[in-house]
Amino acid sequence: MRLLMLGPPGAGKGTHGVHLSQEYKIAHISSGDLLRAEIKAGTPLGQKLGDYVARGELVPDEVLFDLMVPAVDQAAVETGGYIGDGFPRTLGQAERAHQLIGIDRDLPLQGVVYLDVAEEALIERILERARVQGRADDTAEVVRRRLEVFREHTMPLIDYYSGRQILIPINGDQPTESVYQDIISALTDRGVLMRPAPA
Ligand code: AMP
Repeated sequence: MRLLMLGPPGAGKGTHGVHLSQEYKIAHISSGDLLRAEIKAGTPLGQKLGDYVARGELVPDEVLFDLMVPAVDQAAVETGGYIGDGFPRTLGQAERAHQLIGIDRDLPLQGVVYLDVAEEALIERILERARVQGRADDTAEVVRRRLEVFREHTMPLIDYYSGRQILIPINGDQPTESVYQDIISALTDRGVLMRPAPA
C-alpha cells in the first residue's frame, strides 16, 4: 500500500493514517511528527525548524526532503509501502516527490486520500486537540495561519492528484468510524485493498 493522506489541519490525517498503518502493517510517516522529533531533540536544525512550526509556516523544502526521503525508503523496504501524512504540502514538493520517490525508486503512489472537512469544524477540533495533546501550534492564531497556508499552498494538490486519477475524496465531516469505513471502501473499490474472500 502506497498512500498519501491529504487534508487541512485537524481533518483526521493522523488518526486515519495511524489506523490504516496498524491494520495493514504499513509504515505511517508523518512529516509533522518527524519535524517535531527533530525539534524535541534540540539540535541546531531543530531550533531553526521550531520557529517555522510555531508560526504555522512551512519549513524549507531541503530540510523536509532530507528527513522524508530516507524515511519513505526505509518504510518501503521494511513494510512494503508507506502511508505519507502531511507531505507533500505544495505543488513543488509534489513534483519533486514524484521524481524522487515515484520514478527513481519505483515507489509510485496508488492513491491520495483527501479528507474534506468544513473549516468551522476544523477549528473546533484543533482547539480540542490542543486541550488533549498540548501542541504548541494548535493555538487559535497559529491555526488560522495554518489554514491559510493550506488554502494557498496545499489546496492546488487536490487538482494535481485529481488530474492524475489518484485522488480519493472522502467526507471527513462524519463520526471517525464512518470516515474510516468510507476510506476502506474507497480503497477496496480502487483495488488498493483486496476485497475480503466471500464467506
Ligand atoms: P502537521 O503535524 O502535519 O500539522 O505539521 C505541523 C507543522 O510542521 C506544519 O504547520 C509545518 O510548519 C510543518 N510541516 C509539516 N509538514 C510539512 C511539509 N510537508 N512542508 C513544510 N512544512 C511542513
